[in-house]
Amino acid sequence: MVSDVSKLRDSVPAAISGTTKLLGVIGDPVRHSLSPVMHNAAIAHLGVDYVYLPLPVKPEDLGVAIAGFAAIGLEGFSITIPHKQAIMPLLSEMTEIATAIGAVNTVYRTAQGWGGTNTDVVGFVAPLRSQSWQGATALVLGNGGAARAVVVGCAQLGFAQIQVVGRDPDKLQAFSQSWSQAPFPIPLTVHSWEDLPLLLPQANLLVNTTPVGMAPKGDRAPLSLGEMERLPEDAIAYDLIYTPRPTLFLQQAQQLRLGAIDGVEMLVQQGAEALAQWLQQPVPVEVMRTALLNHLNH
Ligand code: NAP
Repeated sequence: MVSDVSKLRDSVPAAISGTTKLLGVIGDPVRHSLSPVMHNAAIAHLGVDYVYLPLPVKPEDLGVAIAGFAAIGLEGFSITIPHKQAIMPLLSEMTEIATAIGAVNTVYRTAQGWGGTNTDVVGFVAPLRSQSWQGATALVLGNGGAARAVVVGCAQLGFAQIQVVGRDPDKLQAFSQSWSQAPFPIPLTVHSWEDLPLLLPQANLLVNTTPVGMAPKGDRAPLSLGEMERLPEDAIAYDLIYTPRPTLFLQQAQQLRLGAIDGVEMLVQQGAEALAQWLQQPVPVEVMRTALLNHLNH
């Protein structure tokens, strides 16, 4: 009974008063965002005078919304689809990591206006940090926005080869060429899906960054069990998708006794990194993880 009460207290937003500071997430749509659940649980646990709100913003209203946020003193905000790139010209500064990725998911206040960073890399690498990846090969399925954070994360972890597989040759070529200004070397090659039989046997880490297998289409997987059988027996499969849990891709990995990582930890850790940036203090990652898992399990 006592633990139920403490759980309840952690999930309730802090009392809102005339001094409460605002944080939020902008997107279109934004109503399915899980960020308010995680951030408000951490805010309540810390007892700080903040609230984190979903803020629906249409693409054509982005400029006016950002100016309005400055006018009302918003402390910072997360960004989800479709604003992660469109926000960039509206910022007065961007971190090296956001520049390398070419997308912003976290905005903070600066003396001049707004600064942008990207915490997806921190989130992505968090569950991989317990082992060394020096000299290893990463195979990345998909070449969209999340793949960019994955590529930077793999480069940071010391992978010797990062092989990205895509289905659109023009997008793949543009993806390949987009790293010329990266502030550190990116050992990247791009490939078509037809190359997979040759690539899979060398992959130490296989990452799904496509939405294939995401709920409500959880009966799909980007690769068949037969294709995944080509992986080395100590390979790890990492799916950025966090619902369903596990995805069919990760069920196949488990069937083959491979390591399996889902997207929950990335989601939690990218959020924790953003909240720490806004509050300028350590944040309770465990509380955020529990709030998210409670929400996903209902
Ligand atoms: P995105 O920018 O739309 O990129 C999706 C990529 O997947 C594109 O390269 C796309 O190829 C490819 N793709 C889509 N459908 C495919 C199919 N049927 N077969 C092969 N390739 C296909 O999306 P994103 O923002 O990168 O997000 C991708 C996934 O990652 C989503 O499921 C998202 O929920 C997840 N994610 C999770 C986290 C987390 O914190 N766990 C963070 C970010 C994203 P085309 O360009 O050719 O269409």
